[in-house]
Amino acid sequence: MATTDTDLAELRLPHGYLPQFATVEEERRHRQERLAASFRLFGRFGFDEGVAGHITARDPEHLDHFWVNPFGMNFKHIRVSDLVRVDATGQVVEGDYGVNAAAFAIHSQVHAARPDVIAAAHSHSLHGKAWSTLGRLLDPLTQDACAFYEDHAVFDDYTGVVLDLEEGKRIAHALGEGKAAILRNHGLLTVGHSVDEAVWWFITMERSCQAQLLAEAAGTPVLISPDAARLTASQVGSHVAGWFSFSPLYDAIVREQPDLLE
Ligand SMILES: [Zn+2]
Repeated sequence: MATTDTDLAELRLPHGYLPQFATVEEERRHRQERLAASFRLFGRFGFDEGVAGHITARDPEHLDHFWVNPFGMNFKHIRVSDLVRVDATGQVVEGDYGVNAAAFAIHSQVHAARPDVIAAAHSHSLHGKAWSTLGRLLDPLTQDACAFYEDHAVFDDYTGVVLDLEEGKRIAHALGEGKAAILRNHGLLTVGHSVDEAVWWFITMERSCQAQLLAEAAGTPVLISPDAARLTASQVGSHVAGWFSFSPLYDAIVREQPDLLE
């Protein structure tokens, strides 16, 4: 979705959209702080399921490397200093922990196929995985769900834990140019031009799955018309809207758990 000048003016952002950095080190640190905070938020929302789930952030200098969570560490404990950098072959080149093979298989292929994508998020959150079993796209049932209208896909070929790069490639192909994919019988995958945006799409997509499950269990929901859904998507589904929606969550988790910045 295009980011328009009007969007930015209306937001009155104190520091502007996507802050600029004097050095690559500052930009890396910014992404790492967003990433560590995102894991704390995933932990808070209950998006963890054992050792499953990963969020990645592209390194601003080594563009085919990404930062990811240490395999097996509780999302609620992750600090900036715990994050791991992985190169294009899956080798850990920075950090003291290992990396989930499925995280590399999926995220390396998504980052490779989509140079515009700075971050990608995936977990086995309850409503996302429940919805995924239906093999259906989300309908435009609510204003929030319209963020995904004509901008997400279903990957309908579950064959086991994703460990090989070919399957990661097929997931990236299904994602296409969209912001999210529903991995059938598995869970949700979202991407963004910032960590903030990718993680916000994940949170609001999980809740949109919950809302549609609740609504369809209760009756026959009324859909938003295609024209209204398209307009709403341009309002709540832009890159800047996704990025901005994450800010209150980031501010809250950093104030409550400042050790995440260590
Ligand atoms: Zn998974």
